[in-house]
Amino acid sequence: MANEVFSVKSFYNFLNEGGLQCPISSWLWRNNYPRKVNLFNWLTWKNKILTLENLEKQCFNKLPTATCVFCHAGIELVDHLFLHCSFAKHVWKYFVRLLHLPEPPILLSYLIWVSWRSRLQTWIQDVGVWIMKALIWNIWLARNDRIFNANVVHAADIIMKCDRMIFSWFTVIVEGARGKFEDYALAIRHSLKFLDQRAEETNEVLTAEEASEQHTG
Ligand SMILES: [Zn+2]
Repeated sequence: MANEVFSVKSFYNFLNEGGLQCPISSWLWRNNYPRKVNLFNWLTWKNKILTLENLEKQCFNKLPTATCVFCHAGIELVDHLFLHCSFAKHVWKYFVRLLHLPEPPILLSYLIWVSWRSRLQTWIQDVGVWIMKALIWNIWLARNDRIFNANVVHAADIIMKCDRMIFSWFTVIVEGARGKFEDYALAIRHSLKFLDQRAEETNEVLTAEEASEQHTG
């Protein structure tokens, strides 16, 4: 069933088959990515995560609607949440520009995803995979934070979290392969520095405004 919600059985079947039938397994489980990030991405590509749309199909959605909590303008499908939503598009756009990547895929499915990856130059294919994984993972965390804790996470925070995650992955690359990623690591480092500085300035302004309010109050 194409849209069945993830079951433990299906995951164990996948492991028992060694992922051999999965066209992306050769690079999905490679390197030192956190396993939970890999697993979550695999489930996303199979449309087996608990999006509001999938929950609604199973009659488990406790929210009044399955509308996306970021834009309130579309149903929370995997493709919407991670690709089509204005929130996701903003994050994608940032990394597409920063690392000169091709436009993101239009759908999240094995074949489309494999085709998007194959459009990347060989030496940047790993970086493209990292961007996709970090983006999907951090958007999901922000979505949960909004639903369960009523916390509004801004796109700039997601970008910074993705930057940190990707930069940490650069640091675990074997010495011999590090050189080919140098330009990308540098771009991510500059992005982090810029965003950190901007966050610091914003905090300073907010603190000054709070102090002024307390003084006048
Ligand atoms: Zn949306």
